Amino acid sequence: MPDRVETEILIVGGGPAGLSVASSLPDGVSALLVHQDREIGVPVRTSGGCWMSDVARLGIPTELAHPVNHADIYSDHEHLSLDMSSEPVGVLDVTSLYRWLASQSKAEIRCATKYLGSRREGDRIVSRLRASGQEYEVISRTIVDASGWHCAVLNALGLAVPPTRRGIGIEYEFSAPTHDPDRAVLFFGACVKTGYGWAFPTTSGSLRLGVGVIEPVSNQSPKVLVQDLLDGNALERMGLPHPENFHVNAGILPSVPYDTQLVYGNVVRVGDSANMATPTLGEGIRICIEQGRALGLALGQRSAPALSQWERAVRRKLALQYRIGFEANRRAAAYGPDDWDRSIARMRTLPSEDLLRFFRNDFTAKMIAHRGAQAVGRRLRKALGGA
Ligand SMILES: Cc1cc2nc3c(=O)[nH]c(=O)nc-3n(C[C@H](O)[C@H](O)[C@H](O)COP(=O)(O)OP(=O)(O)OC[C@H]3O[C@@H](n4cnc5c(N)ncnc54)[C@H](O)[C@@H]3O)c2cc1C
Repeated sequence: MPDRVETEILIVGGGPAGLSVASSLPDGVSALLVHQDREIGVPVRTSGGCWMSDVARLGIPTELAHPVNHADIYSDHEHLSLDMSSEPVGVLDVTSLYRWLASQSKAEIRCATKYLGSRREGDRIVSRLRASGQEYEVISRTIVDASGWHCAVLNALGLAVPPTRRGIGIEYEFSAPTHDPDRAVLFFGACVKTGYGWAFPTTSGSLRLGVGVIEPVSNQSPKVLVQDLLDGNALERMGLPHPENFHVNAGILPSVPYDTQLVYGNVVRVGDSANMATPTLGEGIRICIEQGRALGLALGQRSAPALSQWERAVRRKLALQYRIGFEANRRAAAYGPDDWDRSIARMRTLPSEDLLRFFRNDFTAKMIAHRGAQAVGRRLRKALGGA
């Protein structure tokens, strides 16, 4: 291994964001992608929920997503049966999807390689990497932080720190031959305070049963919450099988307000390191792929205006939507079990299209106006001394 490697673009992180940047770089751009795990797509740190419309739009092979048309949503005492046939969910085969993205990479991919830090040398960035116990340096024109919640590059350069408010989740994946493969479950309330739980059927006939909570709003360990779930009667009530011979997936994602700055000269961030997962459900893969690909194209133009244009386009698409979604996230994190009962009862009165849009964090102008009016009403009631 030479002590110094030169490349135009260094991408840190081989998740969906980094791989998507690498996949859309034009020919002739030299790039290196480093990934600290031994393999792409392993271990799995996400539950892979997506939407079949996005699977088609992003050109993801359909065999990598399992379509689901029905969801049952539970709180402690309420239940909503949701027909999603107008907007079916797609549960992704995460490992295969990430490998598929990697197969399109225009960058050289080095796994089992950890990014350690960077310094600026003139208009270049010198980064330190470690592989097989050996350190070496990479000199690049641009560096992309696609390291997920670690924000490894921005943190090393003193541009940002990893988020302190984070979603942490754990999931048990197990064979579930008796579970209806067209049925997903979401649950809220006493067993997952500040967060939610899910059960997603997959392409391989298994079920992913998980819970996620927001730290530090909650100090409960998701592992303990899953155990409590298994020990209680909630699974039976929701018609879910008990996990046996399960495999554990676990992960962390940021849960902070969206920050519109993505470009810091020749340092750029994308994906979870830029807090791009939706604030409503914490769904990030489709956004990483879309914005990662757009960033790869912008980087290929080798100009600062192209990067600024990309940053503005992402802001136009996400900033307002995420502000509204984050407000819902903040309020829901403070909900108690009774609030969830009321909330699920209220959801039953909404058209399924509106509910699905809410879950997608995709608010229409009418929904935004309605939420604005509700907020004004709340402020007025407060000012007049009401609740
Ligand atoms: C429990 C849970 C459930 C989720 N469920 C869903 C879901 O259903 N649907 C959905 O769309 N999204 C979901 N998400 C969110 C989704 O997983 C993320 O938004 C997405 O993975 C972000 O992709 P990324 O490429 O930005 O970061 P990551 O997927 O985190 O990838 C970054 C990679 O960079 C590597 N890395 C970090 N630091 C270094 C370093 N110093 N050197 C080298 N490599 C490094 C890491 O090992 C990591 O693999 C979930 C997240 C969690 C935690």
